Amino acid sequence: INKESSRLMNLVQDTLLLTKQNHRIDKKKINLTTLIQNILQSSGPQINEKSLHFESQIEEITFKTNEPMVHSIFENLIENAIKYTPANGQIFVSLHLEQNKVIFSVTDNGPGLSEIQKERIFDRFYRVDESRAEVSGTGLGLAIVEKNVQELHGTIDVVSILGKGTTFTVNL
Ligand code: ATP
Ligand code: MG
Repeated sequence: INKESSRLMNLVQDTLLLTKQNHRIDKKKINLTTLIQNILQSSGPQINEKSLHFESQIEEITFKTNEPMVHSIFENLIENAIKYTPANGQIFVSLHLEQNKVIFSVTDNGPGLSEIQKERIFDRFYRVDESRAEVSGTGLGLAIVEKNVQELHGTIDVVSILGKGTTFTVNL
């Protein structure tokens, strides 16, 4: 319960942060490589617990952006991949530059999403059927991700095959 409530508090904080930032988004040069490494480090125990095979290809990138928003985007997508991929599954995280754009992607070989589910996952409070109900969550993560990406004038794409896996790609 404590873990769940502290996670909820983080989500609330993210949301408040967004509201506050609506008028002026502070940007400064941040090291995205370090940012991702920090997220991965704190996810380490969950990755080990589920014996997930984890790989990453992360370029050294410094980028002028809003750190809390980018942190929230990357963290939510990595957290989802870890949560929804069954034990012994595979996760691949990549970060690189393409024509002055930062491309961040997370691929997993988890349950995947149908076309209908894919259309709804960015809705607030939407969670895929009760069969996954043993995994806790509020259904707000991706709504926050999408809002953050929009605020930063980026794009987010999801490619998914039911039963095979999912890739989320963010361009900033
Ligand atoms: P939280 O608010 O804690 O993030 P959540 O993870 O349920 O809760 P979202 O992150 O918004 O909420 O995700 C919405 C739903 O989309 C999830 O409940 C899950 O069913 C589905 N989903 C998200 N990421 C994946 C993924 N990588 N693979 C399969 N399904 C996913
Ligand atoms: Mg989530």
